[in-house]
Amino acid sequence: MTRSRGRFAPSPTGPLHFGSLVAAVASFCQARHSGGEWLLRMEDLDQPRCVPGAADEILRQLERLGFTWDGEITYQSRRAGAYAAALDRLQAQGRVFACACSRKEIADSALNVDDTRVNVDDTRVNVDDARVNVDGERVYPGTCRQGLPPGRAARAWRLRVDSEIIGFEDAVQGPVCQDLARVIGDFVLRRADGIHAYQLAVVVDDAEQGITEVVRGADLLDSTPRQLLLQQLLGLPTPRYAHVPVAVNAAGEKLSKQTLAPALDPQAGAADLLRALRFLGQGVPDELARAQLKEIWDWAFAHWDLGKVPGRRSQALADCA
Ligand code: GLU
Repeated sequence: MTRSRGRFAPSPTGPLHFGSLVAAVASFCQARHSGGEWLLRMEDLDQPRCVPGAADEILRQLERLGFTWDGEITYQSRRAGAYAAALDRLQAQGRVFACACSRKEIADSALNVDDTRVNVDDTRVNVDDARVNVDGERVYPGTCRQGLPPGRAARAWRLRVDSEIIGFEDAVQGPVCQDLARVIGDFVLRRADGIHAYQLAVVVDDAEQGITEVVRGADLLDSTPRQLLLQQLLGLPTPRYAHVPVAVNAAGEKLSKQTLAPALDPQAGAADLLRALRFLGQGVPDELARAQLKEIWDWAFAHWDLGKVPGRRSQALADCA
């Protein structure tokens, strides 16, 4: 049997906070529980958003918390050639088109096809006059699908999405199904600033690193069907997916740099780890309350149960106090 291989793929836009720790703990325990490997990838693709020094700070935080990883760390900023090669392959299949539209033009384009937004749970939300996708942007109206309008230059490259209904079984969230054309539309593979899109890079890297299990925050659940489609088109294997609840603050906002989530306190390693395990529904025994990191990790590897992770997309921090 092949060993399972998981990964943690932080974006170095700031130090780790509790929200990112939850994804790290879940993916690490899932790998180590079954004697599998756990790899690291710095998703520093979007250089303008990266904060100098944040990648090293994240590594120091992980080390202090007792995480250990296998093999070399992958840095997306060094892999543009691999992403360009994948884009070429999709282009050769006739699946890619050049797009001249600016964000504003897309936002301004009204499309009278449907006036509802449909998310992965198939709950419908009325929106004004055009389709808005799960990322809060207009579904691409198809302006450049048949070729660039006269006099316009290519800005981005998009994948042509036909009537693809993508379904998969998420190990935590259950069955997921997404009508890509309706919910997402033709999506960007290479941005106007020349940076390859996360959706393409993550698929290329998960395959390159031989990842068999992707355990990450449920804020990425809506992205997974796009990644499955790209895997199919590129002939890459599809890992097993498990999306754990995203930690939200009292206002229901995802903990992130934007919502001013505090960086982890270096003195509070054991307490943070216990909090993350509780957040993940792992029924941590009271005896561990004063334990050292090593003892907590030993317990976590032995008792980790993905089946106990709450099958919801977000969860308030207060639920793991
Ligand atoms: N870099 C992403 C983040 O920090 C994670 C991407 C992934 O796990 O696929 O949210």
